Amino acid sequence: SFTKEEAVEVDEGEQTRIKVTYNIVFITAEAAPYSKTGGLGDVCGSLPIALAGRGHRVMVLSPRYLNGTLNSHYASAKDLEKHINVSCFGGDQEVAFFHEYRAGVDWVFVDHPCYHRPGSLYGDEHGTFGDNQFRFALLCHAACEAPLVLPLGGYTYGENCLFLVNDWHASLVPVLLGAKYRPHGVYKDARSILIIHNLAHQGVEPAITYENLGLPAQWYGALEWIFPTWARKHALDTGATVNILKGAIVTADRILTVSQGYAWEITTAEGGQGLDELLSSRESVLNGITNGIDVDIWNPAIDKHIPFNYSVDDLSGKNLCKAALQKALGLAVRPDCPLIGFIGRLDYQKGTDVILSTMPELLQDDVQFIMLGSGDPDTEQWMRWAESSYKEKFRGWVGFNEPFSHHITAGCDILLMPSRFEPCGLNQLYAMRYGSVPVVHCTGGLRDTVEIFDPFADEDGRGTGWAFSPLSGESMLAALRTAIKTYREHKSSWEGLMKRGMLKDFSWDSAAAKYELIMEWALMDPP
Ligand code: ADP
Repeated sequence: SFTKEEAVEVDEGEQTRIKVTYNIVFITAEAAPYSKTGGLGDVCGSLPIALAGRGHRVMVLSPRYLNGTLNSHYASAKDLEKHINVSCFGGDQEVAFFHEYRAGVDWVFVDHPCYHRPGSLYGDEHGTFGDNQFRFALLCHAACEAPLVLPLGGYTYGENCLFLVNDWHASLVPVLLGAKYRPHGVYKDARSILIIHNLAHQGVEPAITYENLGLPAQWYGALEWIFPTWARKHALDTGATVNILKGAIVTADRILTVSQGYAWEITTAEGGQGLDELLSSRESVLNGITNGIDVDIWNPAIDKHIPFNYSVDDLSGKNLCKAALQKALGLAVRPDCPLIGFIGRLDYQKGTDVILSTMPELLQDDVQFIMLGSGDPDTEQWMRWAESSYKEKFRGWVGFNEPFSHHITAGCDILLMPSRFEPCGLNQLYAMRYGSVPVVHCTGGLRDTVEIFDPFADEDGRGTGWAFSPLSGESMLAALRTAIKTYREHKSSWEGLMKRGMLKDFSWDSAAAKYELIMEWALMDPP
């Protein structure tokens, strides 16, 4: 039985009903605006606020990354002066906690020297950090202690928590609840919900590392992951590894992904990244909830990162944003020339290889293209080369630049997302909110959120963009060319596309209500 900490009265017109509120604990490697490399950061920076706004007590635990660039982000977080030792990796590891109460949420940052180093959150120019298993196992151990020991706002969260476990970095939490706490009568009534933002990253390491994780030997089976014979490196390789994400898939009370399309895809051989059979076996607790977006940060009417503000009632500011973007990039300032944008991690997942291979053909047309991203070094190199080769038409900005991503979203006409797979995707949602028309590969969350344009329905057509399939240069070009033709020749259809996208409600409200239903459902069954 889950004891509610407090109940708030919800006034629904005539009726007043009691709404149960929960103690919710997010564990995540990223939380914007403190730390972010992609959508995980955006979601864990905004969903907690939406849930707090609905009356819940919400804590978000993430590392306190001091890498130079991010240090100032933690300036308002105070040392709680609560040092604890967690037992893993051959000894006691001392961690500290920093805390900031903001927007109704307790933001708690786990502090340890392993989070203090130059580079990005997960690696540096030499590649992924070799000790990420340690860094995130530590986060999980500390996260399990935090609700018990941190007196936030005067009192602890206590044992009756709902743990929202995000991706592999947090996936030891449900395993620890079962293996380390419940045998001692702690967290008996707590529940855990795994949220899969991206199945491609699973936290797989050699089996020998299991003994470092601070788990009893008999729990090895929960994490054991045997590689198929063809994937083994040599004859003596048994294929045995530990897979942290798998640990949460088998032990979490509920599993969520960030769109319904992706929830289905990960149970198929094509989309399951080797875990499809396991995920299928847990189908009865697997669901998808499409991400919302922070409609205050991403609001063209008040966005400070864009040079001119605008709204669906007056789009003149958008034209000015486009002109300012063209000028800033040193491209011809031409209102009539379609400006296509791409923003994202340069990764095989994002289909950047398809963009690269079709660019020579696309750039024969009268178009302009701006690409912002960082990641794969070859793609970065190509962007620099393309910028000097297609001086009139192409700009490539290598790096991570949040203000610039807003300006591109506002200033371009078309946003291209040829993702090979896409759990949800946020850029297409931002694009629609800013009146930029998405052209996407028809997959996962992109399929769920972009309504394909139907020029023959209603006066100005119906739909919010284009979704092409299969993922090939040919079909991408065809979709882009249809979009460009519509842009040039059917002004009122284009305006209809823009406005329908801008009027869509992508706020967290409805998604947060669905999260509540999943939490309620998780509490119905024993852990
Ligand atoms: P993913 O989580 O797979 O990276 P999403 O579309 O869900 O993809 O979210 C990506 C988020 O990261 C968006 O907010 C996007 O604007 C941001 N982003 C990605 N690359 C960059 C970049 N180079 N500069 C600024 N923002 C970026």
